[in-house]
Amino acid sequence: MTAELISGKEVAQAKRQDLKQQAAALKEKGIVPGLVVLLVGENPASLSYVKGKVKACEEVGIYSELKRYPETITEEALLKEIEHYNKADHIDGILVQLPLPDHISEHKVIDTISPEKDVDGFHPINVGRMVTGQDAFLSCTPYGIVEMIKYKNIPISGKHVVIVGRSNIVGKPASLLFLRENATVSIAHSRTTNLSEITRQADILVVAAGRENLVSGDDIKEGAVVIDVGMNRSAKGKLVGDVHFESAKEKASYITPIPGGVGPMTITMLLANTLQSAKKRSL
Ligand code: NAD
Repeated sequence: MTAELISGKEVAQAKRQDLKQQAAALKEKGIVPGLVVLLVGENPASLSYVKGKVKACEEVGIYSELKRYPETITEEALLKEIEHYNKADHIDGILVQLPLPDHISEHKVIDTISPEKDVDGFHPINVGRMVTGQDAFLSCTPYGIVEMIKYKNIPISGKHVVIVGRSNIVGKPASLLFLRENATVSIAHSRTTNLSEITRQADILVVAAGRENLVSGDDIKEGAVVIDVGMNRSAKGKLVGDVHFESAKEKASYITPIPGGVGPMTITMLLANTLQSAKKRSL
């Protein structure tokens, strides 16, 4: 079997077209959705991510501000900035780019963002709402993964979904979101002793470990759907995922490429969440 590609780029484009129309409809009511992105320090990867987010906002008609702070900003000063944007009427979404310098607590930062503007879906209130099936901002990467699968009309209900990785931003929320979609979910992580045995049971395999070539064709069941979240730099400086693409595509029925897979979907769901937030202004 040679897998069909799930192009995140293509799905993202279709979704952004729809978001553009929604933004235009809001504009007619006098509402311009607004996102502020707060970036601390000079990390080149983070800078490139936030620039991508700001550019995507522009494309669909969302107002955006990129606020940059020196690496030395105190935690207190950063929390004050967040509080300022919590109260700003023209801002519907606040995103603080992670990681943060060691002297700033990520937990405190996330807890300070108003849950009503937490378009990354990281605030414990949004995580709790998601878990209990209430209206919530869904964490963008897992949300994008589920949307890609649905776009391809691949059934999720009743399927065995195996997630490799248990981070707060990908693995854990992805497992809960798939559970909400009625999948049977297993989570593997760095302490899992029989990884291959578990991944080979997956109907849908989501790999989010940040380890190049962690999973190859031998670790995949014939016909599985493979979603590669990983973004790693290979020894040659190429952007690669966690899955050995060449061997995996011979076993899988569907597979996401790197680049052009999960990445564009993550940004698209951030735009979707910002619009969802702005719509509440019109209520
Ligand atoms: P993280 O480092 O916070 O978590 C990695 C997880 O993988 C951990 O839970 C760990 O237990 C697990 N893990 C590590 N080594 C393992 C191993 N050998 N076997 C099994 N599990 C193992 O990373 P993260 O923030 O969740 O990101 C994971 C990857 O996804 C990274 O490469 C990151 O760059 C990428 N990412 C991509 C997007 C996107 O939009 N495409 C978004 C977020 C993260």
